[in-house]
Amino acid sequence: MNPILNFERSAREYVILSLSLATILSLLPFTVLRYMTQDWAIAVLDSITLSIMIGFFVYVYKTRKTKVAGFLLAIVFLATEIVTVSLKGPTQLVWCFPATVGIYFLVDTPKAAMINALSLLSVTLIAESGMTAASVAAFVISMIATNVFIIVFAMRNQIQKRQLEELTLKDPLTGVHNRRAFDHFLDEFDQNRGLQDIAPSMIMLDIDHFKTVNDKHGHLAGDETLVRLVTLVKTQLHHDEKIFRVGGEEYVIAPLNMNLSTCVDFADRLRKIIEHSNISEKLGITISLGVAQYSKTETGRDWVKRADTALSEAKSLGRNQTKASPNSTPGAGRM
Ligand code: GH3
Ligand code: MG
Ligand code: MG
Repeated sequence: MNPILNFERSAREYVILSLSLATILSLLPFTVLRYMTQDWAIAVLDSITLSIMIGFFVYVYKTRKTKVAGFLLAIVFLATEIVTVSLKGPTQLVWCFPATVGIYFLVDTPKAAMINALSLLSVTLIAESGMTAASVAAFVISMIATNVFIIVFAMRNQIQKRQLEELTLKDPLTGVHNRRAFDHFLDEFDQNRGLQDIAPSMIMLDIDHFKTVNDKHGHLAGDETLVRLVTLVKTQLHHDEKIFRVGGEEYVIAPLNMNLSTCVDFADRLRKIIEHSNISEKLGITISLGVAQYSKTETGRDWVKRADTALSEAKSLGRNQTKASPNSTPGAGRM
């Protein structure tokens, strides 16, 4: 694969690399022309900008760091606009439009709006004396309109990104978090583990003999059962306790800020609620549950494995019961 078009790079890296490359390629002929026409001030300015752009390209290409480079690049755009307009006058104001758009690609929207407001104010004050009032007004209004359109565009992108995240992280049938969201949860847990005071617990829950429900009552009745079960379980959870659908009829509830014995009591209460609910009355649904409290020497995935083993034990001992995984190391339960 072309190393520049490496899709493992982040979107911002990509933007900085393309913007600096585009600036280098478009500025190069102008710089040569300025030297040929002996327009020394602009020639030197263009050469400095070119060198800085080459520096940014190489830095981001090699280090893959974008935060500082993006901000500095935005400042370079701003400074170039101001210096160019000061040296060459109002004819150079046209460059403010691509620079304004470029800045939104380099830093987040509020920062870009502030940098652009500063740029608009500075270049207008500098160029205003050589322009008619009508041209000043046209420039200011068209610049404001450009900024507003980009902000609206950025907001629309943000909303679409959120909708996409919803689609990729939610289970379409039950509306709870899906397997991918659970993987994210575990990755995040591993990054932050050790920060909580009490080690959290997890419940793994599986419907007993669910295949028989499908076989006897049909797949649609099975689907409806899954939705009703999740709705019922959710009524028992606090807002920070998440439910993940990790398999067809298998769910994980985490993180639960409870020690092992409290969590076992809680899990068993869920089991009884399901057993005595009208879902069970109609279809004879029961659930088995495995509980594990996080132990400080293990990874998030080791923790899941223990909850899964406890669930298997509950199944093999006859189903419709709750089993706990003994804490695996001394001092377990303390982070
Ligand atoms: P056990 O008590 O050992 O858990 O038995 P089980 O029948 O529940 O387990 P098994 O893994 O053999 O079967 C799971 C069944 O869950 C098989 C599959 O048809 C059903 N299932 C999985 N996802 C869905 C779904 O989205 N909708 C419906 N209706 N059924 C599903
Ligand atoms: Mg099952
Ligand atoms: Mg299962």
